[in-house]
Amino acid sequence: MKKSRWVKCISSQGTTRGVAIEATDYVQKAIDLHGLVDEEAVRLGEALIGGMILASYAKFGERINLNVRGTGQIKQALVDGFPEGFARGYVVKNDISAAPEGYGPWGDGLLSVLRTKGTEGQPPYIGTVPMATGHLAKDLTFYWVQSEQVPSAVGIAVSVEGSKVIEAGGFLVQAMPGASEKELEQIEKHIVEVGDLARRFGADAEPTQLLSEFFQDSTFLLLEEKEIGYRCECSLEKVERALILIGKRELISLRDENKDVEVNCDFCRKLFTVSVTRLGELSEQTKRD
Ligand SMILES: [Zn+2]
Repeated sequence: MKKSRWVKCISSQGTTRGVAIEATDYVQKAIDLHGLVDEEAVRLGEALIGGMILASYAKFGERINLNVRGTGQIKQALVDGFPEGFARGYVVKNDISAAPEGYGPWGDGLLSVLRTKGTEGQPPYIGTVPMATGHLAKDLTFYWVQSEQVPSAVGIAVSVEGSKVIEAGGFLVQAMPGASEKELEQIEKHIVEVGDLARRFGADAEPTQLLSEFFQDSTFLLLEEKEIGYRCECSLEKVERALILIGKRELISLRDENKDVEVNCDFCRKLFTVSVTRLGELSEQTKRD
């Protein structure tokens, strides 16, 4: 399987930019970790590509959280994305089997993006828009326009057979400050096309080739080609730090139950065990009640 990657480019005038993401092996790893098939696998794949698109244009050191709360088969999707080219995510199932009439598979609901700055003490930026269509790519397009005031076109395509990813990819094209009316019109026009382009990320299509189709009317420069992937940075240390936050009293009562505490990472399903002895030590490390 090809290594997943993103390719970024900018028009030679510097007024339109784009990123194309080949995501087959990135999405495959995620659905294997979570043991998902069919619709749920597709939804996780879409959310992961959306999060990676957002991360691709985040500033170095920033972190992106994409949070989709829907009324379809998936109640919530959460993705953490990093501009270094990796992300992790999970979906939470809903009790219902289909989205409400008139909406795409995500249903209606809310889409939020939280940007956490790399430097300490800087407040995070959060933008929330309603899910107007229930199609993630369209609603992300709306997010860029509404919340970040950047005219954009987003395309996301994921298809699976059971637990096997057949194709997975995505596109974002944006107008930069100084873009001409004509360029804005071109992006408008491409809002429909990006979906088709994204769908062509099968076995054969190269991100660079697809970008050149997109930018056919103008010359463009390739800025970056980068390997991307699914990565979770959980650790026992982080689990313990989270446990400390529940406070001394709770920790002591957990210890007194005389059972090891088991925590599954939501993002990669890894199992962490905190022993009774360790619970006692942690309770001594915290002053919080
Ligand atoms: Zn993990």
